[in-house]
Amino acid sequence: MSESVTVENVSKVYGKSKYALQNVSFDLSPGKFLVLLGPSGSGKTTLLRSIAGIEKITEGRIALSGKCVADNKVHVSPNERNLSMVFQDYALWPHLSVLDNVAFAMKRYGLRKEDRREASRKVLEKVGLSSHVDNYPGELSGGEQQRVALARALVGQNGLLLFDEPLSNLDADLRDRLRVEISMLSREMNATSVYITHDQSEAFALADIIGVLEKGCLVQMGTPEEIYSSPATPFVARFTGLAGELRVEVEHFLNDNSAVVRSFGENAKPFIALGKGTDKAKFGHVMVRPAAVQLCSVTDDNAHMRATIKDVAFRGHGYEHVVMLEDGAQFANILSHHKHERGTGVGLIFNFEGCILFPDTTPDRELSDLSA
Ligand code: ADP
Ligand code: MG
Repeated sequence: MSESVTVENVSKVYGKSKYALQNVSFDLSPGKFLVLLGPSGSGKTTLLRSIAGIEKITEGRIALSGKCVADNKVHVSPNERNLSMVFQDYALWPHLSVLDNVAFAMKRYGLRKEDRREASRKVLEKVGLSSHVDNYPGELSGGEQQRVALARALVGQNGLLLFDEPLSNLDADLRDRLRVEISMLSREMNATSVYITHDQSEAFALADIIGVLEKGCLVQMGTPEEIYSSPATPFVARFTGLAGELRVEVEHFLNDNSAVVRSFGENAKPFIALGKGTDKAKFGHVMVRPAAVQLCSVTDDNAHMRATIKDVAFRGHGYEHVVMLEDGAQFANILSHHKHERGTGVGLIFNFEGCILFPDTTPDRELSDLSA
C-alpha cells in the first residue's frame, strides 16, 4: 500500500546551533510524486534522510500513513519503515550480481529464494536490464548501475520511494531517459515518491507537487503550475527560471492581483504584471519568466522596452537569445522562431502571465534617500 507522509514542524540541528531544517511542515497524499527543490545546502538531503529514519530529528514529528515514526520519544529505524531509497552514488553491493543485488532487497518480505529471484527478474526486465542479470555492478555503466538501484527500490515495494538526486552523476541524454522511466514506473506502481534535486527543469518534469527549500525552510509548496505562475518569494522565482528582473515604478493597481508598471529608461512603456499590492507600493521588482518575453522589431509600437541582441544560440525548436537592455541589464533564455543577429536592436513585449511583481516594502522616503 502506498503511504501518506506527514511532516510536522520538523527541525534538525547539527552540533549546537547549525539549523539544517527549520520548522518544516507538509502533507503528502498516497500515490503523489513530491519533488523537493533547493540549492546545495538548503537541507534537502537532511529532510529526505529524516523521512527515511537515517537521521534523527531534533524537533517535530513525522508520520507515515498516520503512524508516528519520529518525534521526541519515538524513532522507528529505516528498515522498519515501509520505504526504499535511491541514492546519487547508486550504493550497490559490489560482490553481488545484479540479480542478487535486487533479490537481497526483498529478504525482508520473507519470500522463498526462488520467488525473490523471479520477482527481481521481472523488475529488472522493466528497467531494461534483462541481459545483465548475471553481471556485477563494476561491469556496468553509471546509467545501468542506477537502473539496478531503481529496480532494487521498486521490487515488491509501492509504499514510499525516496530519491536523493539520482540522476546528477549521469550524462544529459541518459538523465532524460532515466527521468522518464522513474516518472512512469513510480506512477505505474502507484507508489508515493519524494524526490530531491537542485535542477528546476527536472523538478517541473517529474512533480505532481513541488516544495521549494531555502536555508532549511520550506518556502513554498504547490503544483508546478502554481509555483511557476505565482512564486511566493523572489528567491522561488529566481530558482525556478527567469529571463531577468526589472526595477519598476507602479503606475497603478488594476485589481487585487495585477498592476500597470513601467521600467525606467527613455523608451520604456507601461505593461501589466501580476502581483498583490503591498500597501499600494510605488516601486517594485518584476520577475520575468522566459516564456513571457516576445521579441519584435525595434520600431514596433507594441514594444514595452528596447534592447540589443548580445548572443543567439540555435536550439532545434528555435533560437535562444540573450539581450542587453538600455540600462545595461541582461535578459537571457528568450526563445524565438526567428533568428535575430548579434548587435541588432529589438523590441521586447512582455506578456503579463509570466511577469510577477514584488512590490517594495521599503517606505518611499528611504528609497529616495538611497537614490540621493
Ligand atoms: P542539500 O542536500 O540541500 O545540499 P544538506 O541537507 O546536505 O543540504 O545540508 C544542509 C545543511 O546542513 C548544510 O549547511 C550542511 O553543511 C549541513 N550538514 C549536513 N549534514 C551535516 C552533518 N552531518 N554535520 C553537520 N552539518 C551538516
Ligand atoms: Mg544533498
